[in-house]
Amino acid sequence: MHRPRDSERLIIMKTFSGLGVSAGIGQAPALLVEPAPGLPARDPKGDTDDDVARVTAALSKVADRLDARALEADPSAIGVLMATAMMARDPGLTSSVRTHLEEGDGPAHALWGAIDDFCAQLTAAGGYLAERVTDLHNVRDRALAVLQGLPEPGVPAFDSPVILVAEDLAPADTATLDPELVRGLVTAAGGPTSHTAILAAQIGIPAVVRCPGIREVESGTELALDGVSGTVLVEPDEQSVTQLSDRAEQRRAVLDAAPEGPAHLGDDTRVLVLANIGSSSDAPTAKSKGAEGVGLFRTEFLFLDRHDAPSQDEQVEAYSSVLNTFDEDAKVVFRTLDAGADKPLAFADLGPEDNPALGRRGLRLSQVRTDLIDTQLAALAEAAERTGRDPYVMAPMVATPAESTWFAERARAAGIKTVGIMVEVPSTALRSAQVLEPVDFASIGTNDLTQYCMAADRLQGELAELLTPWQPAVIQLIGATCEGAGDRLIGVCGEAAGDPLLALVLVGLGVRSLSMAAGKITAVKAALALHSAGQCRRIAEAALAAPSPQQARQAALDLADPSVAVLIG
Ligand code: PEP
Ligand code: MG
Repeated sequence: MHRPRDSERLIIMKTFSGLGVSAGIGQAPALLVEPAPGLPARDPKGDTDDDVARVTAALSKVADRLDARALEADPSAIGVLMATAMMARDPGLTSSVRTHLEEGDGPAHALWGAIDDFCAQLTAAGGYLAERVTDLHNVRDRALAVLQGLPEPGVPAFDSPVILVAEDLAPADTATLDPELVRGLVTAAGGPTSHTAILAAQIGIPAVVRCPGIREVESGTELALDGVSGTVLVEPDEQSVTQLSDRAEQRRAVLDAAPEGPAHLGDDTRVLVLANIGSSSDAPTAKSKGAEGVGLFRTEFLFLDRHDAPSQDEQVEAYSSVLNTFDEDAKVVFRTLDAGADKPLAFADLGPEDNPALGRRGLRLSQVRTDLIDTQLAALAEAAERTGRDPYVMAPMVATPAESTWFAERARAAGIKTVGIMVEVPSTALRSAQVLEPVDFASIGTNDLTQYCMAADRLQGELAELLTPWQPAVIQLIGATCEGAGDRLIGVCGEAAGDPLLALVLVGLGVRSLSMAAGKITAVKAALALHSAGQCRRIAEAALAAPSPQQARQAALDLADPSVAVLIG
């Protein structure tokens, strides 16, 4: 057989491209995680009560196994495994199984149908909730295997280094992986906030998600991947692997050279680098990764999967624990309930809407459900009193001075001292002097600001070109927000803040606080330390003057320290 020489291999070497979600370089043979067995050919229906009992027993066995796995798992994965076990025990699932059985399904089909219904709701909700569909499919596949007396599906056994390749990986699979043996993960599906991505980064396994076509490779094929750029090389030649490793080493060197402690520019200008969190248990991890505080606590994540709102006491516990994690004078920002659109909550449903992203979401929903916002503000005020701290409290989706005033008055009446709003709607950015007038600070949510500025649904992958915060129009809105803000502290807490190059643009526009996923903190701190305030201003001006997002990014890159290129690709 003709074996290609190195020069030929270079030409035929196949490369896949995905989203790098957990930094690091990995090289090893691929191990394909085969999809779980589907529905059985025969699924005879028995007595409905007996069938409900069989399916419930299968689901609770799955839940027990997940709980048992949680005991062996990395501490950072325990919560995820237990949350998946809770989904398997959800009484709503059992009653949906009964409905399907009563409609004539056999037990396996009833289980399948009930989980499909649940998933359809989550998918329609989009965003964070949609990414929980993988967890539910995993519960379904495991329970189906139990029902059919088959071995548990999932990652096959292996005892030498591998790169796992899968359509998607369930948290139960990811959480128990040994980073010594698993040199990388590549999935065709998944997103930056899927549990695969979150856990891989926490455990320290390089990972690439949303990598279409990757399942074409066969088990045993040598792969190399870069968890920052999202590149996956198939049967790589030595030169390409060396290039990948050199890149990683350069990146490590830039990160290692970053000054420790509070973030600042090269000329000592202070910039706060904070973390985005979704639960109180995220706070200690964020701190250990260098967060000086919290720039965005998405408090609605506390309410997901709940049929009733958490009580005031429960909220006081969660908020106090986050406040106590950081130093006394740290900035810790709580965003009040941002329900609706891609984050619907069962107990705060105002009915179907044709365009939920343009409907009664965020503050608009709170203005209808004042009971929810008042309990939350009371809980925040009580947490402040209990901890002796001064939490920053802001409202999402504020569009007018009247809304800003409504929130500021209500929050202050509840006893909150430092009140702010999010800038996510172009009207607020354009008229920031007026809209910010009643409040003390603001945080720019670039995810929604981009969606509303470009009239492009943030959940629609095909619109990625429009949805980048490098769009000069978005950059202009951020500049306008800072200009009208006077001496109020303006932060950014959308995904843009975690991009080391864009962070320089934001600071150049006048942003003084950047909040991001904890794993991105070191790279952003490193980029900041390499530039002065004047350089950031020049980088921002160049990006602003560019006619397209690509040219804006290139213009920024041309003016930035060359090390930044290493950090971002
Ligand atoms: C944003 O819109 O940028 C933001 C931070 O809020 P979320 O992503 O939760 O909508
Ligand atoms: Mg938002």
